[in-house]
Amino acid sequence: MRGFPPVSPQRAGEGPTSAAAPGRPQERTAGRRRLADAVLELVWRHKTISRAEISRLTGRSRSTISDMVADLLQTDLVREAGSGRSRGGRRPVILEFRDHAHVILGVDMGATHVSAALTDLRGRVLAWHDRIHDVRGDPEGSVALLSELCEACLASRPASAGELLGIGFGLPSPVDPASPDRISPRVFPAWRGQRVFGGLGERFGVPVYAENDANLGAVAEQWWGKAAGSDNFMYVKVGTGVGAGIVLNGEVFRGATGVAGELGHIVVDGSGPPCVCGSRGCLATFVGTRALVARAKSLLRRHPDSILAAAEPDIVAIEDAALAGDPLAVAVTDEAAHYLGTALAGIMNLMNLGSIVVGGSLARLGERLLAPLREAVLSRTLVGSAACTIDASSLGPRSVALGAATHVLVAALADPRLFPGVESR
Ligand SMILES: [Zn+2]
Repeated sequence: MRGFPPVSPQRAGEGPTSAAAPGRPQERTAGRRRLADAVLELVWRHKTISRAEISRLTGRSRSTISDMVADLLQTDLVREAGSGRSRGGRRPVILEFRDHAHVILGVDMGATHVSAALTDLRGRVLAWHDRIHDVRGDPEGSVALLSELCEACLASRPASAGELLGIGFGLPSPVDPASPDRISPRVFPAWRGQRVFGGLGERFGVPVYAENDANLGAVAEQWWGKAAGSDNFMYVKVGTGVGAGIVLNGEVFRGATGVAGELGHIVVDGSGPPCVCGSRGCLATFVGTRALVARAKSLLRRHPDSILAAAEPDIVAIEDAALAGDPLAVAVTDEAAHYLGTALAGIMNLMNLGSIVVGGSLARLGERLLAPLREAVLSRTLVGSAACTIDASSLGPRSVALGAATHVLVAALADPRLFPGVESR
């Protein structure tokens, strides 16, 4: 499974090197821990696997692996699930990772909505709640609402589901690792001084993680969606704003100070409208949902017969009209594709990524957006192959919340001591 962070099977072989030449007792302990972590991750990746296969993949002896597995069987993460096919001797006992051993909460906060997903340890959504809300203007109400949605998800979890493992948050701004529970006041001025997590971690007694929403969309696509197995791609989220999560060599690229991916603030027309960032003509001033609504209104006089002339258009009405072929709505979405394609072509010329996955609310336009977008990118890339494939997300509006939950899973697979019941070895 190329591209799946955090530990590749190759790294599973690091354990033996350090454990083979044991020095001080703490080195032996650290080597044993790394090997045990690698064994758990192998079981997760393969879903079902025998001790012999783990021994082969890690290069460690059967007795060492049996020892590790005995520890794992004390937890609720792994169980023995019958016998496999024999290759000559006794039939091997199959070990199985228990996807329902724990549940994870993933939260997606956008400018105008809050969503919460409850997932198992394999990215399956067990419960989902979302609500339209003025997140930008109402910090206290938003924090109360996300708490309510998390409670609702937990209340509707299946009886067989295990304990909560952690909570992941997707935030619509760069996330400062030093204060992850803050939204940049430059993006949402009303949130100055307001904390996001609302004491949820303390209340549930679990760790809480936060990451930029587009980065989490990329994580979800890489683990469960259109970019599964891709090492070099970009997830583009087009909603109220425009953001990107860039995956390079299998890892989310955060840049020198952690704020890479602000696609919406690439200038595509220097004489364009002013942007919240202080610049003019940023991509977000042409492609964000508010920009599209404003553009549709400005074109109404030229298209008196448009479906959109009947009532004050909002973004959903514009998308519906574009999908129905309404000339005004199509003109608006074609323009958006032109500007988005201009910015993406610049990135493709520079980066030569393998694919682009388009998510966010505008992705529901499907080919209505993607066809002119591909054309715009292709016409502006120097080498045809740099244009790459461009597809809509298959995870739809759930990608960020699912990515937030996956962020927690990634952390726990990298350090299984985060799983309740796994003791520090
Ligand atoms: Zn800007």
